[in-house]
Amino acid sequence: MTNESLYQEALSHFPGGVSSPVRAFKAVGGTPKFFAKAFGAWFVDEEDKQYLDLCMSWGPLILGHAHPDVLRAVQEAIQEGLTFGAPSRRELALARRIKLMCPFVEKMRFVSSGTEAVMSALRAARGFTKRERILKFEGCYHGHADAMLVKAGSGLATFGEPTSAGVPKAFADLTVVVSLDDFEGLEEAFSKFGPELAAAIIEPIPANNGLLVQDPAFLQRLRELCTEHGALLIFDEVISGFRVAPGGAAELFQITPDLVTYGKIIGGGMPVGMYGGRADVMSVISPDGPVYQAGTLSGNPVAMAAGLATLEHLTPEVYKRLDHCSRRWAQAFEAIPGLHAPHIGSLIWPLFQPGVRRADRVQSGAITQFNRLHKLLLDEGVYLPPSGYEVAFISIAHGEEELWNFEKAVEKVSAELATVV
Ligand SMILES: *Cc1c(COP(=O)(O)O)cnc(C)c1O
Repeated sequence: MTNESLYQEALSHFPGGVSSPVRAFKAVGGTPKFFAKAFGAWFVDEEDKQYLDLCMSWGPLILGHAHPDVLRAVQEAIQEGLTFGAPSRRELALARRIKLMCPFVEKMRFVSSGTEAVMSALRAARGFTKRERILKFEGCYHGHADAMLVKAGSGLATFGEPTSAGVPKAFADLTVVVSLDDFEGLEEAFSKFGPELAAAIIEPIPANNGLLVQDPAFLQRLRELCTEHGALLIFDEVISGFRVAPGGAAELFQITPDLVTYGKIIGGGMPVGMYGGRADVMSVISPDGPVYQAGTLSGNPVAMAAGLATLEHLTPEVYKRLDHCSRRWAQAFEAIPGLHAPHIGSLIWPLFQPGVRRADRVQSGAITQFNRLHKLLLDEGVYLPPSGYEVAFISIAHGEEELWNFEKAVEKVSAELATVV
C-alpha cells in the first residue's frame, strides 16, 4: 500500500482523511504519510521509508516510541483485562506517583484526554466559585471544549468570539480573552471582570502557537490577581507537565495553581488526562459534590500502567539531560540560515524570526519559510510537526546517532533553502 492510496481511501472515510485536523498537512502542503510502526526516535511509513520523528505524537512520548518498560507494563496489564468499569489498584499507583512529583495536587480525577481534563476543570471552577466567566489567553490552546474555542473580540476587553463554527455565541460571551505578555490588558480584564471570573486558565509554558515562553512576572501577577479576586488559577500543563521538571511549570516557576490539567505524558502514549489540585475545590466533584463528571473508560487500567511506567522513568537527572539535549538540538536547528530555535525542556520551536512572546507577532513570511523547510526535511527523512505554529518534540531516545543524522539532513537542506524559489 502506498501512502497516497491509503490517503485516497481515508478521504472517503474521514473529514480531510484524518482523525485530527493538523495531521492532514493542510498547513504545509502535500499529503500525509501513513505510519506502520515506530521505535525510539524513529517511525516507518507504509512505504517502508524511515523518518527521524521530531513530532513524537505531539508530546506523550518523552521516553521515545515503544519504550520497552512501557510496553512491558501495558502487556502485564492487558493480561488481567482491558477495562473493569470499577476501581482498580493501578489508578492508585499512578495517583501516588503524581503526588510525589506534583505535591500541590491534593486530589485528582482521571479522564481520557486533555480536552476532557480542561472541560472538567472549568466546570469544577464554576461549580466551586458559583461564577460563570472564564479568562483565557490568546495563543494558548486548551483542547476543543466550546468555552476554549474563543478569540478576543474587537475592541478592548470585550467578550470573546467563537473561533469555530458550532460554538454558540452565548458560550463565547462567557470567555474573556487577553493577550499573552500583556500586563496592562491583564490588569484591565481583572478590573472589569474580576468579581465574575470563576477561573483564569493558561498554559504556563504556551506551546501550541509556537513556544511563547512568558516572563515569570506575568504568571506571578496572574496568580496575585486570581487570589485577589477570588478566581481560581488553572494551569493547563497538558504539554508542560512532567516535561520541564517533575512538577512541571508550576515547579519550574514556583507558582502554585488551584487546579491543574495534565494529558499527553501522563498516559505514556495511551489516552489519559487528569485534572486535580486543591482538595476543597475537588470536593465539588460528583459523587462528593454537585458538579457532575464521569467516564466509562476513566482510570482505564491499561492506560494507567502506561502512564505509571512513563512517569517512573522521569527523575530529575532525566530533565537535566533533556535540557542539555534540547540545547544541542536547538543549535543544530540554528545551523539553518535565518532560523531561530527557542527551546525549553524537550520543546523546540523552529521559527524564521527572532524573539516572539505573543501569538499575534508571528509573521506570515516566517511560516512560509517553515513550510519549505518542512518539505525539504521530510524528503531527507526528518519528520517535523506539519505546521509552523507547532513545536518540535525530542525525547530521551534522541541520542547522538539521531543528532548526527539530523545535522546531516540540515546541512543538505540549508544549501537548497538558500536557492530562492
Ligand atoms: C494537547 C493539549 C490539550 C488537548 O489535549 P487532547 O488530549 O488533545 O484533548 C489541551 N491543552 C494543552 C495545553 C494541550 O497541549
